[in-house]
Amino acid sequence: MGVEEAERTPPSIHRIARCRTTDCPAEDRPFEVVLYENAGNPKYVAVCGRPGDTITDLMEVELAT
Ligand SMILES: [Zn+2]
Repeated sequence: MGVEEAERTPPSIHRIARCRTTDCPAEDRPFEVVLYENAGNPKYVAVCGRPGDTITDLMEVELAT
């Protein structure tokens, strides 16, 4: 990745998100997400499939190389 490309790409991280919303199709089914940095707090938020719900249970994931 060149310098110019890095400057255009927002900081992002890979995490395993686990939804805690009752009756959500993804409830307790961890899935990998790519998250971009927020200006606010919390810094990284995954969005649930159900509108308006967010997932704050985010585990670090080791990327295979
Ligand atoms: Zn959900």
